[in-house]
This record gives sequence, structure tokens and C-alpha cells, in this order.
Amino acid sequence: MPAMPVSGACHCGSIRFTAQIDPTRVLLCHCADCQTLSGSAFRANVPATLESFKLTGTKPREYLKTAASGAKRLHAFCPDCGTPLYSCATENATRVFLRLGAIHQRAMLRPALQIWQRSAAPWLDNLVKLPGSPEQQALDVL
Ligand SMILES: [Zn+2]
Ligand SMILES: [Zn+2]
Repeated sequence: MPAMPVSGACHCGSIRFTAQIDPTRVLLCHCADCQTLSGSAFRANVPATLESFKLTGTKPREYLKTAASGAKRLHAFCPDCGTPLYSCATENATRVFLRLGAIHQRAMLRPALQIWQRSAAPWLDNLVKLPGSPEQQALDVL
């Protein structure tokens, strides 16, 4: 796999990590579980090899998610600030799926694929047409 070194951290900085990711495999997931667990409209992930993944600082908390299919995955997040960090298989994991929002180099990473479009927010194709602002001021008009 093409490898790119990245670093990242949770919002409060208690947890930091480095990894080698595959920058050609940035994935958007629109499934209902990702919407709920990310607190957002969809989740962006990128795979990293487990052997390249190094965590420092506070130990993440793990949530064992069981999907409707019965598949289980561990979802790791900061116990202090709640930032989602990664998920991985519960057995024989060879990769972790890093949450794009926790990666410092995220602006360089473009999605290549999206899944679970059946449950995608119906307004996503209209996003570029919405009025906006480079910072928070647009809230004043709501
Ligand atoms: Zn944190
Ligand atoms: Zn998902």
C-alpha cells in the first residue's frame, strides 16, 4: 500500500499518535452508526497498518459496537474530551481506521470512496450552494 506518515491528537491533547496511512483509501461512511458515533452527517476514515500505529499519552477508552449484522468493532475515543480516534476489528486486527478529524494532515487527504449512501444525508449534494462564511459570523444570520 502507498504509505504516508501522519500524526494526530485528540482535541484536549491527552492522546497523540503517529501512523503510516494509505492516502489513496480515504473513505466516507454514511451509515447510521457513524452518523451517531461521530455526532455528524458522515464519518471520514483512513486505514493505517497496525504495526505503524503508535499511541502516546492517556489510554483511549474503547466502545464495543455490535452492528445490525452482528459484526463487532472496537471504537476508541479520548476519555477526557470524547474525540473519536480510530476503530479496529476485535480479533486479528491488521489495520486501524483512523478518524480523519484527529489527523493533523487531514487537509491533504481527499476521499476516494463513500459507502452506505442509502442512509446519506439527503442535503449533501447541495452543500456547496449554501451561504457561508470563513469563520463563525454566518451564525448571526440564523
Ligand atoms: Zn482528549
Ligand atoms: Zn459507518
